[in-house]
Amino acid sequence: MENKISEEEFQVCFQELSSGRHLNRNQWRTLLEGRNSERAELLAQKASELRDRIYGKKIFIRGLIEFTNYCKNDCYYCGIRKSNKNASRYRLTEDQILNCCRAGYELGFRTFVLQGGEDPYFNDERIVRIVGKIRKEFPDCAITLSIGEKERASYQLFKKAGADRYLLRHETANEAHYRKLHPKELSLAHRIQCLEDLKSLGYQTGAGIMVGSPGQTTETLMDDLEFLEKLQPEMVGIGPFIPHHDTPFREKKQGELEQTLYLLSLVRLLLPNVLLPATTALGTIDPRGRERGVLAGANVVMPNLSPENVREKYLLYDNKIHTGKEAAECLDALRASMGEIGYEVVVDRGDYISKTEEV
Ligand code: SF4
Repeated sequence: MENKISEEEFQVCFQELSSGRHLNRNQWRTLLEGRNSERAELLAQKASELRDRIYGKKIFIRGLIEFTNYCKNDCYYCGIRKSNKNASRYRLTEDQILNCCRAGYELGFRTFVLQGGEDPYFNDERIVRIVGKIRKEFPDCAITLSIGEKERASYQLFKKAGADRYLLRHETANEAHYRKLHPKELSLAHRIQCLEDLKSLGYQTGAGIMVGSPGQTTETLMDDLEFLEKLQPEMVGIGPFIPHHDTPFREKKQGELEQTLYLLSLVRLLLPNVLLPATTALGTIDPRGRERGVLAGANVVMPNLSPENVREKYLLYDNKIHTGKEAAECLDALRASMGEIGYEVVVDRGDYISKTEEV
């Protein structure tokens, strides 16, 4: 990528960010628009150093259980949006969910991520029951929920039942961009409210974006970085946008690998202690995507523990990997590929380490 941002200008902004100082919008613009391969490499190295200093050369694994692909919402980018009549819908039973946890525990997982669409069938009572059962059977594991926007009172109930963490990507912190991605029933204000509620209730909270989503610009990315700086989430999910053939965005361009890696590094530098997944979407657009994600500053991988027969139904975007290294059964392959780049997949809850806890 050719650009006109001078080396000196770029270096000043890079140094500011690396020393933990607040950047103004012009400085963010310089970093975002000044990307070339050498600079990306520089950021990745610095991001990796920071991550290694705080977390060591450890990769934390999260067992992903996609327990329902019903959703009452209609986000334009999503393969399981309610208007997609071609999606083959499923829900796992409580027993199936628990069995996924049991199989995962045997494999070495100490975090379970229950992810689903916003499915009214799984009301508060059912979620509380499921979380309670997992908490009781696996007291040494972290329970993460990723089930969308709820009222504060619901989040409170889930927390009381034993949930520790919550993932809710904000998708974009720019109002106009948010409107391009979502129908009018959804609002950015409510999404942000949810994230603030989660933080204030003591959840380790995850926000995040898709890189290259339709309508994304340098301006919207600057809004995202500023939003992340303000929210201080414990986790940030960043993956490339991948179009799904049964959505209004079917013809849109896929997000770029290099830009996604660059943003991973920027987020690591902005929030040094953050838990940063090398996402499934990254592994989908490039066979070495997740390894490259780790080399850019990521330290989490989320293999799929869902029963094999439903994996292909949880299709948020096209060509999602659901075999090979993605399957929990192939954890050995993941261990080997992370080993090759000098990282170790560990059996650990992989909790967020706050600045005050750093050794
Ligand atoms: S992105 Fe989430 S809330 Fe939106 S349609 Fe998909 S599953 Fe539902």
